[in-house]
Amino acid sequence: METSTRSARRAGSVSTGRGVPILAPAHRAALDPALLDVVEYRKSGLSVNWIVGCPLDCGYCVRHLFGNFDMKVPRALVDDRAAFDLLVNHRFFQPGLTPVQLLNRATDPMLPPVKPHTFAMLRMLDDAGLDNHVLVITRWRVDEADCAALNELRNIRVTLLVTHSGIDDARIEPVDSAVAAASLRTAFAHARRYRVILYWRPIVPGLNDSDAHLAQAMDLRAHAHAAVFTGLFYRAQIRDYYQQHGLPEPYPQTARRKVFPERLEQRILTAESAVGGAPLLRKTSCAVAYAHSLADYNGHVGVDELCDICPATQLDRCTRDRTRPRDGQVAAMAAELGGRLVGIDSHAVTVAGLDEQRRYLMQHTLGYQVHDVAKPHHRHRHGRADLGWPAPHPSARETPA
Ligand code: SF4
Repeated sequence: METSTRSARRAGSVSTGRGVPILAPAHRAALDPALLDVVEYRKSGLSVNWIVGCPLDCGYCVRHLFGNFDMKVPRALVDDRAAFDLLVNHRFFQPGLTPVQLLNRATDPMLPPVKPHTFAMLRMLDDAGLDNHVLVITRWRVDEADCAALNELRNIRVTLLVTHSGIDDARIEPVDSAVAAASLRTAFAHARRYRVILYWRPIVPGLNDSDAHLAQAMDLRAHAHAAVFTGLFYRAQIRDYYQQHGLPEPYPQTARRKVFPERLEQRILTAESAVGGAPLLRKTSCAVAYAHSLADYNGHVGVDELCDICPATQLDRCTRDRTRPRDGQVAAMAAELGGRLVGIDSHAVTVAGLDEQRRYLMQHTLGYQVHDVAKPHHRHRHGRADLGWPAPHPSARETPA
């Protein structure tokens, strides 16, 4: 015990006696302050990240944005109970409404040392009688025992999203995509109380978009309740990593939003129509909602060009569930959060002066898109980067982000 405590201290951690050790204060101080924010509101839900560090080495990992890519051994910021308390007492958490994501920023929730903590959190949420969506995203191994544990949960609506890219350049993605494919098959074969999504990403031209790659992903849809396809976040820090390591740069410039060229999307949709399988959707929350036979909690049906690939039953569900919010209600909500209402139309609420987290709170509460007047989107581009899309037609309506 004495010895293990000493060696844990050398590794910058304090042993709690079980599971991932808590990061020692001196090492916490060295982390990007954003990583210390255990609960953060993102588009797919309140994201709970109480464990940091991952050995899987995906070259495009968002941990580059936090200067955390070199932390290969997972360490906890707080224990599981404290993380649960931070979530359910968060000022934006609403029982039965707020979608939740577990450990999706700086580690993989199914890594062997992390997995017990993931399941501990799932059980605490379930034991609290909450029926919120809970998203678990992994590219690692899911076995039958994991499926059995997920099937024991009674209240929360769990969605397991299995990330599969098919990238076979080990410099960019050292983990063989066969691992994720096997996890998907296992998870889907045993799913009773939870739903499984093929999370096909990042799809990058010239890297994993050959006809063979597309066919492989299409086939995997037979092992999922729904599938999402999406592109790559190509931010400056990720470009720097690619350059420093001599990796082929996927795009000539970086972008704030995910990059997903129009032509690639068209090829994928053409390939999809040729074979059967779970529907392909553009947005994570759409796939989660469809898999649970519920309306999309982000109100994407307001961005109608997103829905042209969605099954008719789902389109009907989302359309029926959507109610245009009242001006007074939304103005009061925006003002209380420190911003102001700019306008409401049949597509979205537009606000000013609210950061992403507050806009997501409004969006999930209203079930209606909430856009920032300062960040315009181009119609038909689905909130993606301009890279790979032709210049907007002068007559095209611009919608705010
Ligand atoms: S109908 Fe539209 S909003 Fe609803 S799940 Fe489908 S794509 Fe998403």
